[in-house]
Amino acid sequence: MAGEQAEALGVDLFPGFAAANLLYRDDGSVGGVITGDMGVARDGSHKPTYQPGLAIEGRYTLIAEGVRGHLAQELIARYKLREGVEPQTYAIGIKELWDIAPEKHEPGLVIHTQGWPLSDVAGGGFIYHQENGQLAIGFVVALDYHNPHLSPYEEMQRFKLHPAIKPLLEGGRRVAYGARAINEGGYQSIPNVSFPGGALIGCSAGFVNVPRVKGSHYAMKTGMLAADAVVDALAAEGPASLDAYRLALTQSWVAKDLFTVRNARPALAKFGVFWGTVYAGLDLWLNELGLGFLVPWTFGHKPDHSQLTKTAQSTKIAYPKPDGTITFDRLSSVYLSGTNHEDDQPVHLTLRDPSVPISVNLALYDAPEQRYCPAGVYEIVHAEGADPRLQINAQNCVHCKTCDIKDPTQNIRWVTPEGGGGPTYPNM
Ligand code: SF4
Repeated sequence: MAGEQAEALGVDLFPGFAAANLLYRDDGSVGGVITGDMGVARDGSHKPTYQPGLAIEGRYTLIAEGVRGHLAQELIARYKLREGVEPQTYAIGIKELWDIAPEKHEPGLVIHTQGWPLSDVAGGGFIYHQENGQLAIGFVVALDYHNPHLSPYEEMQRFKLHPAIKPLLEGGRRVAYGARAINEGGYQSIPNVSFPGGALIGCSAGFVNVPRVKGSHYAMKTGMLAADAVVDALAAEGPASLDAYRLALTQSWVAKDLFTVRNARPALAKFGVFWGTVYAGLDLWLNELGLGFLVPWTFGHKPDHSQLTKTAQSTKIAYPKPDGTITFDRLSSVYLSGTNHEDDQPVHLTLRDPSVPISVNLALYDAPEQRYCPAGVYEIVHAEGADPRLQINAQNCVHCKTCDIKDPTQNIRWVTPEGGGGPTYPNM
């Protein structure tokens, strides 16, 4: 619908084509994007359906890829956009849609929870009684957790077994599944948002208010601020930067909102979940009263991938087996995400060093990618008489980006698969 309205206004849309690479001008500025090649086989050879990527040029390029976009990552590194700011931190959110019994549905009811079944890991659940008699239920786990045995997917399954939640789902039917990383770093993790030839907007830059569970309107507002800067830059004589967007952002309610809540999320990492929550409540309350000057400090962050403890110092977690009615295994969940990738294409989960999954991840952390991936993409295969090896079931990937974030040595790099592949999230 929105797409049709945009096209009616003269906007060209290219649905089904992923922006795979950036196009750079001779002066080093960004000049647009290049869509991914189609019809490339797993071994890199060209299939009869081969079509090279298309260069889409523009005077200014606004990057809106969502959380941990691979183009944004490249831009942040190339133009050193994160210099002087804290690392971005993340959570993974896992969500299901259920058709529930009509008598249990209370339209408009919203429930947020914190904690259980987690212990001293930041996170919590949500339950929305939404339209069409459906329930959206989900669980968010902060990716700065320490125990490599933790599985965010299994925590979500356990969440549904709470005595106050399970009866809601009994007799219902799960109809959709999805997972996605969420920015949690807040104000102190916002990078420089403008670069030569363009700007980062929305979750590409990390505008999320964790304690208020808000982000969509920041994405829209920052898109509008960037668009205003582009209009002014196009009207200016000669080349112009989008620094005006950066300035407008610092003066906007987006920056004000995020500044006010900047210490709430890192307090949980700093003081533990219980005392961190107490601290965050006090800090937010003082800000609410206009007494924010009493808390002038800003807490920092540590990158999520650096937070795992070694297996030898970690407690095993025994998760219950799925019961097939309230809790499920990963493969049946992936089926409900509508994920589809062309089988014969290069693997889009790339390893910088193929030896690291065994020599580091398995040896020191019992291969945590087997547990933090909510789609069962990573498997350590122990074939008889052979050394263990990592198998990557890339066709299951729901594009949540958790592996790109949490891999302890940052050895996994998510790149765009062939255009059109991935989960289909109608209604999600
Ligand atoms: S492979 Fe990575 S991006 Fe894909 S679903 Fe698993 S964790 Fe998410």
